[in-house]
Amino acid sequence: MNCRNLILSNTPEFVYNLLISIGKSGEKTGVPAYVVGGFIRDLLVGRRNLDIDIVVEGEGINFARQIAEKINGKIKTHDQFGTAVVILPDGFKIDFATARTEVYEYPGALPTVNPASIKDDLYRRDFTINSMAVKLTGDFGELVDCFNGQRDLKYGYIRILHDLSFQDDPTRMFRAVRYEKRYDFSIEKHTQELLQQAVSKGYLENISRQRIRNELFLILSEDNPLPAIQRVEELGLLKYIHPCIEIYGDIISLFDKIGELSKSWDQETDLVLVYLLALLDQLHLDKAIELSEDLVLQSKYTDALIASKIKIHNISELNGNLRNSIIYNAFKDISSELVLYFMAKFENIREAALYYINEIKDIKPILTGRDLLEVGYPKGPIYSEILDRVFSAQLDGIISDRKQALEYVKKNFFKE
Ligand code: ATP
Repeated sequence: MNCRNLILSNTPEFVYNLLISIGKSGEKTGVPAYVVGGFIRDLLVGRRNLDIDIVVEGEGINFARQIAEKINGKIKTHDQFGTAVVILPDGFKIDFATARTEVYEYPGALPTVNPASIKDDLYRRDFTINSMAVKLTGDFGELVDCFNGQRDLKYGYIRILHDLSFQDDPTRMFRAVRYEKRYDFSIEKHTQELLQQAVSKGYLENISRQRIRNELFLILSEDNPLPAIQRVEELGLLKYIHPCIEIYGDIISLFDKIGELSKSWDQETDLVLVYLLALLDQLHLDKAIELSEDLVLQSKYTDALIASKIKIHNISELNGNLRNSIIYNAFKDISSELVLYFMAKFENIREAALYYINEIKDIKPILTGRDLLEVGYPKGPIYSEILDRVFSAQLDGIISDRKQALEYVKKNFFKE
């Protein structure tokens, strides 16, 4: 099968031109070059994917360097792995690697790599659907499908390439679930049997907590992560993420609600974090801290997790007809991720949260410390109390300009 027309019709023109240009360089230097993996998989199912992974039967880094020069890009190399990223002036990235084999010394070890042919390189990959390549040199566009990836894509199977696959790299179990749910495929029967054996042999115990966290985050970045999380639980993988996580009705409703609310949510928000808060909803503060240390979460995630536990009480009690200043003070230190999580969790605060975001979040105080100084009020800790009170009065519509604000200060703080 030749994919030239598919690439032409299903990817932006500049991507097609880039691939042509990479192919031409390969021909000039006698280095066979291929585009591989997810880009091909998604090309064949008609899903947009602009992650370009190039593999060459030759020296990957040198090849990337030539391309960077040709297209005026910057290059970042990872000499240890024989890989490089070329970054175009507009920020678009292309990954380059040398075709290689991987040998795993023990289950879950990082592999020892050796240069190899494209076929060997495709054989080291996780699933048949990810093991296809397209030629950029020679017969441009020709599909290289040595392991029936196209067939499995057609019939909807996630299938490993050899029986030791989960033993070599147990993180593939999470990847299998992620693709199964993303494409609505099924993990093929023999693959599932091997997966279950790998679970019962505890191969995931050999994997670093950071690598497990990365897999969790990849699952949480899916458009709808809930089915994959439920499948992770069903297959007995959830305990390897952390033994204290459980999936039950409330968590399921939370995920659903976040999905629903996020459709009309226009704030810049890291949805992975929102789903993480939902997944860890049932944990008390001490367990949440323990989990965040165990999974080596970045401080952004740990801080939000702790804040979600500390602020939950205050937020859940916001009820009734509230003054603007109460709403403002309740939400002012809360990130958009936490607001979305709390909105999903507590129906009674949704209106106030949206009102905060749309109407009052960006209001600036009429009065500043400089105004107080100018009028001659003695500087001191009382300034912040004054400014808070004035701002609350402003939010609640009691004062609306500088003159009124200064009168308010005089009356409430500096009466003779
Ligand atoms: P996604 O859409 O999830 O990003 P992708 O296929 O682009 O899918 P990457 O994680 O970017 O996924 O990996 C690129 C390719 O590298 C995959 O298509 C697969 O061929 C190979 N690969 C990635 N991770 C593994 C792994 N753990 N074991 C074997 N092959 C892998």
